[in-house]
Amino acid sequence: MNVLLIGSGGREHALAWKLAQSPLLGTLFCAPGNPGIADEATNVVLDISNHQAVIDFCRLQNISLVIVGPEAPLVDGIADSLRAANISVFGPSQAASQLEGSKGFTKDLCAKYNIPTAAYQRFNNAPKAKAYIRAQGAPIVIKADGLAAGKGVTVAMTMAEAMDAIDDCFEGAFGEAGAEVVVEEYLEGPEISFFCLCDGKIAVPMTSAQDHKRVGEGDTGPNTGGMGAYSPAPLFDAEMQADVMKRIIEPTMHGMAEMGNPFSGVLFCGIMVTEDGPKLIEYNVRFGDPECEVLMLRLESDLLPLLKASADNDLTDAKLKWSDDTALTVVMCAPNYPATPQKGSKIDLETVSTISGVKIFHAGTALKDGALIANGGRVLAVCGSGSTVKEAQSKAYEGVKAVNWPEGFYRSDIGWRAL
Ligand code: ATP
Repeated sequence: MNVLLIGSGGREHALAWKLAQSPLLGTLFCAPGNPGIADEATNVVLDISNHQAVIDFCRLQNISLVIVGPEAPLVDGIADSLRAANISVFGPSQAASQLEGSKGFTKDLCAKYNIPTAAYQRFNNAPKAKAYIRAQGAPIVIKADGLAAGKGVTVAMTMAEAMDAIDDCFEGAFGEAGAEVVVEEYLEGPEISFFCLCDGKIAVPMTSAQDHKRVGEGDTGPNTGGMGAYSPAPLFDAEMQADVMKRIIEPTMHGMAEMGNPFSGVLFCGIMVTEDGPKLIEYNVRFGDPECEVLMLRLESDLLPLLKASADNDLTDAKLKWSDDTALTVVMCAPNYPATPQKGSKIDLETVSTISGVKIFHAGTALKDGALIANGGRVLAVCGSGSTVKEAQSKAYEGVKAVNWPEGFYRSDIGWRAL
């Protein structure tokens, strides 16, 4: 089976690495890919926003499955265009991608189907939003409705912060994404990511993970795309999983189908474990990055038939087997990330590549005159596994220390909450 994978980050490198192990795989193409992915796939240059060009490529290369890594092409409707051309695609339709693309859409779904989440109101102008915030008081959470690359959420501890966040949104700090705003109740508790494979009708539980979003040690400083992650999340036991399936995931699948937007692909459920039980914080309609890296290290089943079954709307017989080990990844970043990362510094992976048990996924690298260089904010995801979080952490940091990249920086406490 020839496969086209769309994306260029650590998530896609992890998917490519896992797909390449499948006996069912013919040729794996990746658009645009990166130098790490080139070890597993043929990287191709394709304009992903030109859906006809993607369709033409699929026909030319006899592609049996397209796997979409990031959210933007999904929200842009690439899955619909491919399906309309009879090409099998892993990932939700544009309508179903609203679960990530519009926070207001998801909150309304929760209200309609009684899914536990923070209380909320939607607003399309500042005065009404501010009046509501004054009535509610701080702390309170302000969210731009649309995709804002993880920057559209303000957890306001004071009234002044909340008012500033409202002004930011309606004054265009997030463009169209901030034209509508969700104001929601402040919740407290540990956060967990939980992933399910979906086929439009049913959701099959995958596993859990926890990530570290803040750039600084002890989870401080500005938000990033993710500085590290581990799987499974020790807190998320079988009982909690059953509860989340019953009260959050299953009503979501039912509601989406009933509203005419059946969801297929991977449903990434962000949960906060509050005193009143697990509540939905957000949905994403694709694998997390760097969560995907640790998930792929733990997945023992063949990924390819699972993604194909999701694309073909039949996961009834899907069986997923996971290693009991913990996998942990530390993200190495270019200087000045998450502001404007400095690109171009040289990276040497020769020493680290000799350490057994360490796996490196490329997130933002490029080749220049034959040398590997940093080409993004998050550059490498260095992973280790072990029978405990501690063991996995030691292995990952053994890898990090063997990466010869003086300019790179990383957090030295990934996994601390689980220790
Ligand atoms: P990302 O893409 O970075 O995952 P996002 O922009 O889609 O994030 P959310 O996940 O909804 O936004 O929120 C980002 C973070 O803000 C959450 O991980 C959580 O820490 C915090 N947060 C969101 N909603 C609430 C809430 N109701 N109460 C307290 N904290 C919240």
